[in-house]
Amino acid sequence: MKLLTVDTIEEARKKLLEQAKSWPHITETIPLGKSSGRILAEDIASPEDIPNFRRSAVDGYAVIAADTAGAGEAIPVFLKFAGSVEMGKLAGFGLHPGECAYVPTGGMIPDGADAMVMVEYSEPFDREIAIYENAAVGNHVARIGEDAQKGSILLRRGTRIRSQETGALAALGIVEVPVFSTLRLAIISTGDELVPPSVQPRLGEIRDINTLALAALAGESGYCITGSQTLKDDEKLLEEAVRQAMQKNDVVILSGGSSQGTKDMTEQVFSHAALPGVFTHGLAIKPGKPTILGYDEKTNTILAGLPGHPVSALVVFRVLFSWLTRQLTGEKEPFSIPAKLSCNIAGSPGRTTYQPVALRHLDGEYLAEPVFGKSGMISTLTGADGYIVIDLNKEGVREGESVQVHLWI
Ligand code: AMP
Ligand code: MG
Repeated sequence: MKLLTVDTIEEARKKLLEQAKSWPHITETIPLGKSSGRILAEDIASPEDIPNFRRSAVDGYAVIAADTAGAGEAIPVFLKFAGSVEMGKLAGFGLHPGECAYVPTGGMIPDGADAMVMVEYSEPFDREIAIYENAAVGNHVARIGEDAQKGSILLRRGTRIRSQETGALAALGIVEVPVFSTLRLAIISTGDELVPPSVQPRLGEIRDINTLALAALAGESGYCITGSQTLKDDEKLLEEAVRQAMQKNDVVILSGGSSQGTKDMTEQVFSHAALPGVFTHGLAIKPGKPTILGYDEKTNTILAGLPGHPVSALVVFRVLFSWLTRQLTGEKEPFSIPAKLSCNIAGSPGRTTYQPVALRHLDGEYLAEPVFGKSGMISTLTGADGYIVIDLNKEGVREGESVQVHLWI
């Protein structure tokens, strides 16, 4: 048996990044409506002031604040009604001292006015309006450029486009968005025992979890899945599939067959299909030790042999390949939240442990409860809200200790 050294997570990440840096930095411009979840490739400066006219933030009366001095709930001031502003239209008139004008929410505030009084603090009387509030200058007035100032950077390169970024870009009139191109990724699953999820497995068989689960995670992590297939544990078949996939992908994932069993062929397959081939023969992490990483220079492809256990496969993909896209696009790392540990958890010295935990709210703070389960059990992940990382030099973490919980994205 070959005795191979394993890489720490940092070593493996460094090697991956070195290979990935040789990929051309491809960006593209896509319609705003199709950009959700993509990562901005450029800083976005506001081409104009938003709003570019003074808007009312309430339904009510535009006033000159000084005219309302002394007004209150019991003592109104009476202002002359100068007219109503229509939505989407120029105000068309200005206010003189002693006057007010009706302005709906989002309507233009007439020149001369410097505050809004909510309709709730007013009462119409014939040609006069009673105002029951001493309005401060600027009250309920959205200033020109208050939302976005012309020329200021509103969104940074590396920002993931969520609903609020879509809204901001729409507000700026930016309907074509510069984003990083998605990396192309293929998934090949191997296992004589695997049947498609739509098929009732016979005894001894199981449904293929990883093909769809990895595709889902890869999609969330900014990869474009160009193809996926499930194959028998046949070295020739696998090698051919990997060779083919290398032609048109940046990353090829081979799920299953990465350990040392008689039917485990990932290492040989990668060594035959790729040059220079395997650069990581195992990872000092738990779960996920039997992970094989390689590279093919000619096609510029990273190869990853992930363990077949679904929990291991998903954890390894997350800590290596979800991390990799963030590194390449500059997207910030997801937030982690502090929690108190509910019980002692043993680490595994020499290996970084990724322990799934469920969160519970208790007395104003979060309690992290480990979800234990063999790495083949997908319920370990569905029952967890995230995971904690136990350093490879630590023997474990104690009940009551403060830990950072990384939430599943
Ligand atoms: P392997 O890495 O091929 O040795 O597989 C380890 C364990 O994971 C075995 O119990 C396999 O049956 C299981 N396994 C492998 N691939 C998959 C898959 N695609 N979906 C679900 N379980 C899998
Ligand atoms: Mg197998």
